[in-house]
Order: sequence, then structure tokens, then C-alpha cells
Amino acid sequence: MRSKLSYNLIVRLGGILILFVFWKCNQSDSISYKTFEQLPKIDIHSHYKYSREYLPEFLNKWNMKTVLVDVALEDEDSLVRNFDNYLDHYKEFSQYFFLCTTFTAAGIENPDFIKKTLEQLQKDLSRGATMVKVWKNFGMVTQDSLGNYIMINDERLNPIWDFLVEKNIPVIAHIGDPEQAWRPLKDPHNPHYNYYKNNPEYHAYNFPNIPSYQQIIQARDQWVQKNPNLKIIAAHLASMANNISEVALRLDNYPNLSVELGARFGDLAMQDSKTVNAFFERYQNRILFGTDFGNSKPDTLLSKEDLETELNNLDKDYQLLFNYLVKSDSIVVRNQKTKGLGLSENVLAKIFSENFFRILEN
Ligand SMILES: [Zn+2]
Repeated sequence: MRSKLSYNLIVRLGGILILFVFWKCNQSDSISYKTFEQLPKIDIHSHYKYSREYLPEFLNKWNMKTVLVDVALEDEDSLVRNFDNYLDHYKEFSQYFFLCTTFTAAGIENPDFIKKTLEQLQKDLSRGATMVKVWKNFGMVTQDSLGNYIMINDERLNPIWDFLVEKNIPVIAHIGDPEQAWRPLKDPHNPHYNYYKNNPEYHAYNFPNIPSYQQIIQARDQWVQKNPNLKIIAAHLASMANNISEVALRLDNYPNLSVELGARFGDLAMQDSKTVNAFFERYQNRILFGTDFGNSKPDTLLSKEDLETELNNLDKDYQLLFNYLVKSDSIVVRNQKTKGLGLSENVLAKIFSENFFRILEN
């Protein structure tokens, strides 16, 4: 009787041990959240235009640095840039930031356009910029005197790409917008619904003169192909985040191309987690973490409570993206119910910093 009891006990304990070993083996790739917190991180797409007292501590907590990305907005005949704001912020806390400048094709018909643009870029690089951003004003905003939209593959821009190749400067390219911009706004659950509702000037559906999504993407692809030595990081998952097989096609075709994830986590969450996970595994050397988070007001215009709320929201926003990438639980991202990707430590280390440093330094 007694030996039968202990025999049963041994069998049960053995079973538990086998289950534990099996669970441990399955866990071998996943990373503890504590380890993840300390993993070096670069948010390669941020717009922290103004200084914040809380930022150093916040960034330290996540072991994170960010790239401050300038954007040039065209307002009638003038160009609104914020490089000087970013530069001030960068100078104040240079250990936390990288600097990214920008230019547009406004004035491309002027004989001194190239000379002036190169001078401006050279000046910004000498002040600390290590990247250049091109924005969707190529293809969607800037027009020549005849009303033609200037596309990113316009041959008049070639001396600028050659200059950036020579200086080994990567370009972060937000060209085009999600396909949703060319469709009527019907579905409030679409991850881009609020953006086009609040920024109707970029809802291309309302402006039939703007080139089609296909024309803009084609021009972008041709530009990437024709400049094989230019290091191009296509922001927002190459403006085709709703269909990662299209992104994969570009990554297969163009070795000089990488992609950034900013503000497209909702599109990823709409797609099957296993498929998205396989995409991250396959292209682990070509994907970079970015958010498009930032601020737009100096802290002198904000109350203590405003700043506290801002920090809490920022922490929540980052945490959600981290959870999606690191954990494998059920999660809701931009109204989309999905499962976290549970990426391995190796893949996380690459997309959070190793790919960025390789692209920047090699
Ligand atoms: Zn941005």
C-alpha cells in the first residue's frame, strides 16, 4: 500500500517535472520584462520639439534615446521648420538624443535650388544632425509653377542623394500615406480614421489632383532602386503597413531599404499575429523601432497637472507598444484586438538599437 502510494507520487512528480521542462524550453526565447526594460532602445522617429524636465528620468527608466526628427511644412509660400527648436533641445540633453534634419523640393525650379539645399544640409550636419528626413510633401504637397506635384524620384534631386551617399547619411522617408487616405472615411475603427478626420488637408480622397497612391508608391520604389548606395529607412512601414506582404516584397527587392514602425502598430494589430511575427523574424535586420511621439508646446505654457498627464500618457503609450512586441498575451492596439508578438531577446535587441547603429555607422 505504502509503496503504491509513493510510486504514484513519483509518477506525478515526474509528470510535473516533464511539464516544467517543456514549459521552460518553450520559454527559452522570450525575455523577462525586467531584462527588456534594460535593453538599449532607440526611438528613431520622435518629435520632442521642446524640453521637458521629466524626459531624462523617463528615458533613463527605459534605457532609451530618441532621434529628434524635423519636418518642413509648406504654408503658402513659406516653409515652416523647427530645426532650431530641436537643436536647442538636442544641445541641452545631447546624451539622450540624435538629430535629424530635413528639406523639401519647394523652389526646385530656381537655378540655385541645389546649391542652397546642399548648403543648408551641410550646415545642419555640422550642427549635429546625423540623418535626413523626407516627408510626404514630395508627391502630395509641393508643386512646380505649372501645378505638377514634385515626386521623390525627380531627377533634379539626384545631386542631393549623391551628397548624402558621400556623407554616409541615412534618409528616413515618409513618402505617401496609408492607402486609406485615398478612400472615403467610412470606418471609425480604421486605425487612421481620426488622423484624416482631424487633418482633412491630407485626406487625398478630397483632392483629386493629388497623384494616386499607386503613382506615389511607384515613384518611391523607383527612387529606392535608382539610389542603391543611399541608406533609406521607409518610415511608417513604407506607407503600406496594412499589408506586410507588400512591405516584404520591397525589402526583398531593395537591399538598401529598411523600415520603421512609427504610428502603424494598429495596422500590424489588424493582421494575424503569427504572420506578423514571421515578418519580424525574417526581416529582423531591417526593422527599426520608432513611434512618432512628441510634443508641440513649450513647457512654460503648461501647468504642473498638464505636464503630469502628458508624462503619464507618454508612459502608457510606450508601454502599450512594448507590450505588443515583447509579450504574447491578448492586447488591444488602436481598437484592434490581437495577440502580442512575443519577440525573442535577439530580435528585440536588433529592432530596438542594433539595426540603427549598424545603419548609422557602417
Ligand atoms: Zn513623424
